[in-house]
Amino acid sequence: MTVYFTLGHARIACLSKAEAIAQILDLATAAKASYVVTPNADHIVMLEENEELRRAYAGAQLVLADGMPVVWASRLIGPTLPERVTGAELMPLLCAEASLRQLRVYFLGAAPGVAERAKRALEAQYPDLQVVGTYSPPLGFEKDPLQNQQVIERLRFARPHLIFVGLGAPKQELWMASNASLLGSGVFLGIGAAIDFCAGQVRRAPLWMQKGGLEWLFRLLQEPKRLAKRYLRDTRILAVIWRQWRQNR
Ligand code: UDP
Repeated sequence: MTVYFTLGHARIACLSKAEAIAQILDLATAAKASYVVTPNADHIVMLEENEELRRAYAGAQLVLADGMPVVWASRLIGPTLPERVTGAELMPLLCAEASLRQLRVYFLGAAPGVAERAKRALEAQYPDLQVVGTYSPPLGFEKDPLQNQQVIERLRFARPHLIFVGLGAPKQELWMASNASLLGSGVFLGIGAAIDFCAGQVRRAPLWMQKGGLEWLFRLLQEPKRLAKRYLRDTRILAVIWRQWRQNR
């Protein structure tokens, strides 16, 4: 039985990376489509105000802790999350499993050409990997029924078991919530910038920074203009942690 840690409006599964991967592989071959979300501090803060995102979270089959602050909060409040299960780690690990099990994967999102580079990098590492498609949809595609339908058609044609969706939050979560069920099967994973990481487009922080919860600082130094406002807003997670701690006492 899975134990859950609740933080604000997220109910997060207390799973190790290996356990999460096992559950995702089951979903990948299930008879119905599903989606997985990976909350970090930014999601927790957005969930406070975004009702649509709350609905998307409620419909997710699996909610996994991407951010270190989320893991720290669990240690304070309980039950404890065993470790971070980031989208950036899930993507290569699941590709490794997919190549062993002959599961088809699809990369949706990131800037034009980046997913193609991620495909080449992962295929070089796992020669048996079947990347059955990559697509960087145009900005605003989700609001254009025709363009959105084209994305669905591409996916239906490719019949992937695992669809890595890197459209940024909350777009990827909202998109998966409205569109995953249009496919008969397959598991969609909202993985943020993981396609960029796999492509070598964006460098990930060194391990000591990841473990110390300083990944945000590394990314901030790489993209200060885009990320400063986001990380400032994310400090509001402290209020959510405080509220949850008091509720649980
Ligand atoms: N992205 C996209 N379409 C959009 C907005 C973002 O494909 O309309 C991509 C962007 O290129 C990047 C990914 O979404 O590859 C996620 O970016 P972000 O850094 O916001 O992810 P996170 O910090 O959540 O991991």
